[in-house]
Amino acid sequence: MQVLPSAVNESLKASIAPKPGSGDVSVSPAQQSHTVEPDAEGTPRPSSPSGTTCKDLYAIVSQVGEGTFGKVYKARNVITNVHVALKRIRMEAEKDGFPVTAMREIKLLQSLRHQNVVRLYEMMVSNGSVYMVFEYMDHDLTGVLSQTQFSFSQANLKSLCSQMLAGLAYLHRKGVIHRDIKGSNILINNRGELKLADFGLARFYQKRRRSDYTNRVITLWYRPPELLFGATVYGPEVDMWSAGCIMLELFTKKPVFQGNDEIHQLDVIYRILGTPSTERWQGLTALPWYELVKPKDVIHGHFRELFSRWLSPAALDLAERLLAYDPTQRVTALEALEAPYFKEEQPPPELPVDLSTLEGEWHELETKRERAKKRRKLENGLV
Ligand code: ADP
Ligand code: MG
Repeated sequence: MQVLPSAVNESLKASIAPKPGSGDVSVSPAQQSHTVEPDAEGTPRPSSPSGTTCKDLYAIVSQVGEGTFGKVYKARNVITNVHVALKRIRMEAEKDGFPVTAMREIKLLQSLRHQNVVRLYEMMVSNGSVYMVFEYMDHDLTGVLSQTQFSFSQANLKSLCSQMLAGLAYLHRKGVIHRDIKGSNILINNRGELKLADFGLARFYQKRRRSDYTNRVITLWYRPPELLFGATVYGPEVDMWSAGCIMLELFTKKPVFQGNDEIHQLDVIYRILGTPSTERWQGLTALPWYELVKPKDVIHGHFRELFSRWLSPAALDLAERLLAYDPTQRVTALEALEAPYFKEEQPPPELPVDLSTLEGEWHELETKRERAKKRRKLENGLV
């Protein structure tokens, strides 16, 4: 396997070049044997001598994820002993060459560098597969929250919220909408650092001209009401709704709006936040699916009563501003970072460094496997 220089560079661009006349990208076998130079940047990253094969350079430790394009592995660089995550981009099923969504993620990630955005070290090509080499993160949020024996302090929760918002503020400033903020795409390491990952659905947006996008993005439970009402013209506010869902989930340890389908999703939101009206949300009736999905009856929300058990008054205020129905009223990431929850209310944020005491490494995949194991034991009458 060839190790390509850090980020996606000229060599990868050359080997994965768009087919003339089409929007597609492909890797030809001849191009895969492209020789490349190791990264000359000098930043701490796994060393990658030119010509070393992947098998030699990385020892697979375990599988940590099941990606859309293939598996995600924890691996160790045998020379530096640094752990990395290898995300395999499956090529077999791709009739049209290199998957466009993967290419989008790579190109996007290479332009990003922030302490709250997962770092893409380099790309590797081998036997028809392209691997993304990421910094390794011990857990994802879904995994950590499933560990009920472990609890974050209020100061830890504040730090996690603020790190998530700092990551989003950075992305939005760079003109990127993530479009898939959810627990399994938020990574945390044992130093208590939080990083946003999985840019498979992310898009550049133009600050002035709002483009027409698909609205089939964002996992249902984290999808904002404007998308459920059929909006195809939207902006970074969609991520802020998801961030509001994550903020509540951090405190309650459970996703708050668990709908089974689009209509039910809106219903679950209505039951907590109350039904939206044109007073609360001016553009509501102009949305494409308004007539189809509009609330049948008026429901009064009980958001504050419901969550005051877990959230402090200033945290509740912020969560409520993140979950504003009207996207134009929804707080931006930058504004959210200035909220009294961070600036005034005690305690100040503290990195959740205690995570290093949590036994095991928890990603959505291990959590799912653990649950399946428990279920099997139950079925076999072992517990
Ligand atoms: P997909 O697009 O299929 O959701 P992701 O990039 O979200 O792919 O990766 C799938 C899972 O793999 C994540 O939910 C996470 O648990 C794990 N994972 C991804 N990147 C890393 C990383 N850098 N370090 C550790 N685990 C990771
Ligand atoms: Mg993911």
